[in-house]
This record gives sequence, C-alpha cells and structure tokens, in this order.
Amino acid sequence: MSEQPEALATLRGTLRAWLAAHRPADWRDAATHEQFVASQRSWFAQLVGAGYAIPHWPAQWPGGGRSLAEQKVIYEELARADAPRLLLSFVSTYHAFATLHECANDDQKARYLPGILEGETWCQGFSEPGAGSDLAAVRCRAERKGDVYVINGQKVWSTMAQYADRCLLLARTSTEGAKQAGLTYFLMDMKAPGVTVRPIHQIQGDEEFAEIFLDNVEIPVSERVGEEGQGWAVAQATLSSERGLTLMELGYRMRGALSRIAALIRDSGRADDAGVLRDFGALTGQVDAVCALADQFLENRMKGVERVGDASIVKNAYSRSLRAWSALGVRLGGIEAQTIAPITYGDLNSGNWMADFMNSYAWTIAGGSEEVQRNIIAERMLGMPREPKNWVVA
Ligand SMILES: Cc1cc2nc3c(=O)[nH]c(=O)nc-3n(C[C@H](O)[C@H](O)[C@H](O)COP(=O)(O)OP(=O)(O)OC[C@H]3O[C@@H](n4cnc5c(N)ncnc54)[C@H](O)[C@@H]3O)c2cc1C
Repeated sequence: MSEQPEALATLRGTLRAWLAAHRPADWRDAATHEQFVASQRSWFAQLVGAGYAIPHWPAQWPGGGRSLAEQKVIYEELARADAPRLLLSFVSTYHAFATLHECANDDQKARYLPGILEGETWCQGFSEPGAGSDLAAVRCRAERKGDVYVINGQKVWSTMAQYADRCLLLARTSTEGAKQAGLTYFLMDMKAPGVTVRPIHQIQGDEEFAEIFLDNVEIPVSERVGEEGQGWAVAQATLSSERGLTLMELGYRMRGALSRIAALIRDSGRADDAGVLRDFGALTGQVDAVCALADQFLENRMKGVERVGDASIVKNAYSRSLRAWSALGVRLGGIEAQTIAPITYGDLNSGNWMADFMNSYAWTIAGGSEEVQRNIIAERMLGMPREPKNWVVA
C-alpha cells in the first residue's frame, strides 16, 4: 500500500503493460447472454490472478490492501485501456464483500469470501414491488421454524440474479413497531428449492436484472447476518459500498469514455465547430467534477467524516453527466447512433450510443432515485422544510 508518486507510477506502468497483453478486445461482441457471462467470468478470473480485481479488500487477500491513490490508478488504467467493467461480479466484490466484512461472523466470512474470488456470483435482493425508495416497507416474510427461516415473497430489479449463486436478502421477521425494526438480513442460496428467477428484458436488449420469487424457501439460521431485527443496520453496510466505491469506479470509467466522444468529433470532421467543442468542454468539466466529488467523498469517509447528503451529491452528479455523455454521443454519432443494436451489455460504454443513452436513465433510479437524493440534500443536508407552511396555491 503506497501513496508515493514513484510507487504509483510503477503500478501504473505495470498495469498498463499487463492490460496491453491481456485486455479482451472483443468484449462488446458477445451475441448471446451465455457469451457475455463466459467473457465476464474469464475476465474476472484473469484480474483476480493478476491481483487487480479487489484492490479495496484487506491486505491478506491477493491484490487487496491498496491505498485509495492506488485504487484510483487501477480504475483509471482499466478505463483508459477500455477494459470491460465487471458487471457480473461487482455486487459480489463490493456489496457482498462490504456486508460480510463489516457485519458477518467469522464462520460466514470464512465460508463465503474465498468463494467470491473463485467466481461465485452474488445478487442483492432488497427491492420489492412497493418497497424501493421506501425500502423499510419490505414485505417478504421470514418465519422462524426451528433451525431454519421459511421465506415467502417477491424481490424485483435484482441485478444479475439469473446468474447468481447467492443472494443478500432483506426480509421481514416482525410487523411490530417501527418498519425498520422488523427486518432481518440473510445469505440465501439461489439454488435452494422454492427460488424462481425471471429475467426482465430491457428496452436496449439487455437483461441486467431479474425478479426473484420465493416460495417456502428454507434458509438455515446460521445464514442470518446479525441478530433478528438488525437487518436495517446490516443493509446500510451493503448500500454504503454502492454509494462509495462503485461511483468512484464509474466516474473514472466515464472519464476514460470521453475519448469515444473525442473520436466522434474527429471522425465527423467537427473539430473546428465551436458549438461542439463548447459542449465537449462542458461535459469534460462535468465528468472531472464527478471524479473529484467521488474522490473527496471517499477520502473523507476513510477519515471517518461523512455528512448526510454527500453521497447523494456524488450520485446525482454521476447520473446527470452519464446522461450528458450519452446524449452528446447520440447527437454527434449521426444516423448510426440513432439506431439501437439488437443486444448490448452494460450501463456505460456498450458501444451503441442509443442503448447507452436509454440506459443512462437507469442510473437516475438505481441505488436510490434522483428525486429521493434531492430530498435528502434539501431536507437533511440543507435543513429545508419538508412541508413549507407558507405556500400559497393559486
Ligand atoms: C439499473 C438498476 C439496478 C438495480 N439493482 C438492484 C439490485 O440489484 N437489487 C435491488 O434490491 N434493487 C435494485 N434496483 C432497484 C432500485 O433500488 C429501485 O428501483 C429504487 O430504489 C427505486 O425504487 P422503485 O423502483 O420501487 O421506485 P419507487 O420508489 O416506487 O419510485 C417511483 C418514483 O417516485 C419517486 N419517489 C418515490 N418516493 C419519493 C419521495 N419521497 N419524494 C419524491 N419522489 C419520490 C421516485 O423518485 C421515482 O421517480 C435497481 C434499479 C435499477 C434501475
């Protein structure tokens, strides 16, 4: 772990050379979901082997224990090389890791953390029809019967659930008292009897997420994280990884993807068009701001400083600039950019501008909608009144 400029330059040089030799150049060519999954698994295994998959894990893990400065170098170089994002594994390496690391017991950590590096895929089963922004409204029931909990209910929008081996499950064990107090957190085997997964087909051809139906699924008590009724607190550990590292990685990815806009400007002969250059300049500034905000957020968090609303600012800045990036791509890309490819993968930089533009709206919802983030900033950060008392409706 180092912050020294020489050590960072060495890391950058080594990784750049490794990527030149190993980055799969054909990752956008997957014509079927099976090909996509196979290429994702192979790329993850290569990154794990080379020590670049889990820089944010502790030092006892291969490739772990990296400083924030080193992690930034890794994200920058992966973006610069146009390497595929780990769409199949990010819930495992970020969300599942954060939850297990911070909240699980030693037995659970020993059973599940090594599996992640061997390619076991996790999904997150929080949202339900009727419980998204209001996550505490989760209705999926978990009833204790001896040594097991019996689960009944439905989850929705669960990223990559159709390929997942395990699920981070939030379920209701009690309807008494505050909604949050009745929630309990489980590690669920996705192959258990009673689990049915139905992928959701999206407008841009992808099937990024799925519904999960749970019909008398038995989860052993040993797979509960924390005590009964502590699920809300455990869920915050899962969600905090999404609000931190994921956004930093995505910010750097988008900065790398600015080169695709630059190429469009060059190729379309508009390098002298003042209007186009103005828009590109504005976008560059916006993307730089996202990276700086994400950096600052994580640096502060590592010092134990986190103001309510900080993560919401990063999240909204990211989703706004993602939309601006893909909209500019659609505008500059001519007629080709107006058509949608039959199948694309990814929430950024899929290679099809229209698919990326459509998908950019997903980020105004995922991880907490833009409106809800604005409420947090307005009410809890700026102290604005929830229900203005002096409003006059004409
Ligand atoms: C790409 C993607 C991936 C996802 N992956 C996962 C996953 O892996 N696991 C998982 O559990 N979930 C996942 N989700 C679900 C996501 O967390 C929810 O979609 C999100 O929390 C919003 O909940 P909802 O869809 O129920 O919308 P609702 O909460 O019903 O909101 C509908 C609309 O009402 C607005 N709204 C709601 N409440 C308020 C309020 N108080 N003030 C102002 N406006 C409000 C919202 O902004 C939104 O526009 C994913 C979503 C997306 C888009």
